[in-house]
Amino acid sequence: MKYAPVQNYVNGQFVAATSSRQLPVISPLDGTHLSVVPLSAQSDLDHAVAAAKKAFPGWSKTPIKERVQVFFKYKSLLEKHLDELAKLCSEENGKTYGESVAEIEKCIELTEFATSLPQLVTGEVLEVSRGVECRTEYVAVGVVASIVPFNFPAMVPNWTIPNAIALGNCMILKPSEKVPLTCGRIAQLLKEAGLPDGVLNIVHGDDTMVNAICDHAGIEAVSFVGSTKVAKLVYQRATGNLKRCLALGGAKNHLLVLPDAVAGMTAQNVVASMSGCAGQRCMAAGAMIGVGNVDHIIDKICDEARKIIPGENLGAVINRASQERIERLITEAEAQGAKVLVDGRNAKVAGKENGSYVGPTVIDFVTPSMGVATEEVFGPVISIMRTNTVDEALAIENANPYGNAASVFTQNGGMARYIVDRASAGMTGVNVGVPVPREPFSFGGWNESKFGVGDITGKSSIQFWTRLKKSTAKWNAEAGVNWMS
Ligand code: NAD
Repeated sequence: MKYAPVQNYVNGQFVAATSSRQLPVISPLDGTHLSVVPLSAQSDLDHAVAAAKKAFPGWSKTPIKERVQVFFKYKSLLEKHLDELAKLCSEENGKTYGESVAEIEKCIELTEFATSLPQLVTGEVLEVSRGVECRTEYVAVGVVASIVPFNFPAMVPNWTIPNAIALGNCMILKPSEKVPLTCGRIAQLLKEAGLPDGVLNIVHGDDTMVNAICDHAGIEAVSFVGSTKVAKLVYQRATGNLKRCLALGGAKNHLLVLPDAVAGMTAQNVVASMSGCAGQRCMAAGAMIGVGNVDHIIDKICDEARKIIPGENLGAVINRASQERIERLITEAEAQGAKVLVDGRNAKVAGKENGSYVGPTVIDFVTPSMGVATEEVFGPVISIMRTNTVDEALAIENANPYGNAASVFTQNGGMARYIVDRASAGMTGVNVGVPVPREPFSFGGWNESKFGVGDITGKSSIQFWTRLKKSTAKWNAEAGVNWMS
């Protein structure tokens, strides 16, 4: 085992979980046994919530301009430790080192946004009647929880930690049991940056711990990022317990490609979108719809895909079970009449035989009912469907239950606007394969890709992490008599 057993992080200290249940942590890159992660008990969560509750009065009453000083320092520490964090992130998740560097850089951008929060939460004041003023203030919610998935061990925790904590909340973070290591380093860096003990706590576990978080009377709000199946369960359970909840789910993102699109750029974007992070991004292109004759672009997509080499510029998928599931979906589509133009099944990486790799895969003549078209494949696979008209393509996009992203590739501005207006997705793109909004714009999908109001990052997250206090005051007794007196 390469690293010491993973521990929970409570009140500024790493502590062993009281439960003896645990799971191995295996690197998808080569099957190395990295560590073991505890599946913590209810008492471990109680301990963490108690620490967060104790820290809350002091932290929430610290002026926000002081609170964000921690994040200015944290940003410098992320920069200083970028290489080390990127290596750890890559090791436990399987993405390439370059993708992990980009992930830590995104953490830095998210932290920069948090340092700007004092400018965005100034509240309002107005004399609403003679001598009577109303004012609004953004007040922290209390102890909040953040439950995160495996695919971004650093970035998704940093979607919630900087904003929620800068806004005065104390947090319980539940990392994915598949990638529990990077979060521990994040906690250490935040402590080094001056975060008081108890403001951030980490409790490891699986679905049992997620349910315990949703049920815990001491937790006021739950944010969740993961699959749609679990997002629904978490949203129902947390709101059933009268907590506020924002639950982001899975996706099936459609790229509509028109014949007039710039072929080379479109091919690069389509392939980068479907294969980046081995296709394990909720913003990955899962399906492409070619409108009319786009054979010349599909040829270039195949050329680009063949440049993607597992173990070199393509990382591993999270585990063997995921690899087998992806390969099965490709095989089923083929059996149902789709044509596999570039085949990533049975990928092997010399010296990494115990890794879990799927090569880039391009499947043409997919129909909307095939599994590769309906399911979130979460692998480096693009399923190409063909239509004669833009409206037929939009009908396919609109019919999918998810709604994270949709993009159009064309040089016709009017047509791009027509498609963006009609796509049923929260994040749309024109000639962009991964239309992630950058700070200060917020991240969040529609339909079954998100349950709850608001988005998880950017300005839109302020509402989720705060409560609005409205105060009405009269200080001038001579103000005269009116309806407010
Ligand atoms: P997952 O839903 O399996 O797990 C997410 C979290 O939920 C983990 O912490 C896990 O321990 C917990 N969990 C798993 N099963 C549970 C259950 N039955 N009950 C309660 N909790 C449970 O997701 P994953 O496989 O870790 O991540 C991949 C998924 O996350 C993909 O669907 C991807 O699209 C999605 N995702 C979405 C976004 C977004 O912004 N919409 C971002 C990143 C990832």
